[in-house]
Amino acid sequence: MFLTDRKKSKELNFYEVLERRTALGEGERKMLKILRQGFEGEQSYDRLWDEVGHDHLLIFRDIWMKVENATLQIDALIVHGDRLIVNEIKNYSGMYQYADGSWSVNSFQISEDPVAQVSRTAGKLIRLKYGGGHGHPFEVDRKVAFVNPNFNLTTDTEESKNHIITRPMLKYYMRDVARRSSGADASALSDTIRSCIIEDPMALPEVDAARIRTGLYCGRCGSFKLILDRYRSHCTSCGHQETIEYQTVQSIIDFATLFSEENLSKKGVRWITGAEVSDRRIERYLNKYCTLVRKGKHSTYTIDTLNFGDLLKMKGYNSKYEKGERILLD
Ligand SMILES: [Zn+2]
Repeated sequence: MFLTDRKKSKELNFYEVLERRTALGEGERKMLKILRQGFEGEQSYDRLWDEVGHDHLLIFRDIWMKVENATLQIDALIVHGDRLIVNEIKNYSGMYQYADGSWSVNSFQISEDPVAQVSRTAGKLIRLKYGGGHGHPFEVDRKVAFVNPNFNLTTDTEESKNHIITRPMLKYYMRDVARRSSGADASALSDTIRSCIIEDPMALPEVDAARIRTGLYCGRCGSFKLILDRYRSHCTSCGHQETIEYQTVQSIIDFATLFSEENLSKKGVRWITGAEVSDRRIERYLNKYCTLVRKGKHSTYTIDTLNFGDLLKMKGYNSKYEKGERILLD
């Protein structure tokens, strides 16, 4: 069973919001592409697990951990018995060569070495048994899982082959892992893992506010060309309709994602919505969807999650309510 959800990373969310609200530079475009491909690869890895079945396994997905002084990010960590398996997921496609400790694609050398990466992670994890007096003896196994069917690898290193699983073998590998069941030891070890999980510590780039296009946009096609009535927006590009509440919450998330170091306030939301939403409404939505931390003329808020869907659910957004009288009164 999956013990943690896999969601878009903070970084991927950041570049997606940036893309909606500005023209990306070349480096940003590349970054977004890499992050999207990575996330798609992780999702197809998860789907394979669902096909194979993972009821008797404990699988952490997409976690950040602090082990002694080391910070590590793990795409998938499988706990069974007294053994941990680290899976580093890669969505590479193309003709790759791995020889003499270096990787190249179509004869161009690349700086990333996934085998070294997964080995470093495993090396840090093994310290768990010495740190903090946990005292569970365990082994750490490691594999790089190449999920893309269009990935071709030529390698002459036996050692590295042991740590690489390509797409055609992935289901066999998963079935083999799934055959080994998780006993009592597994829950003790997974408790230890859980106690080391931290929030995603990645620092996001700073954004120049002058680059950001303000205003509300269509949640379906992304167009900013909307006609607003009192409680709904109508997209002139695709005809889609959304509530002002829905779109304002999206804008609140956009602001908090792009300017995570800044205070979340009415002023910021007024700015990013292009002053298209009344202050009274902004205040009401901030109070409903965010947590007030400093009250006063310049009230500031925090937001529990930057995941739009999660936030709407958590705070009880109801699409029937949006046609209700309370919004019309506003
Ligand atoms: Zn639209």
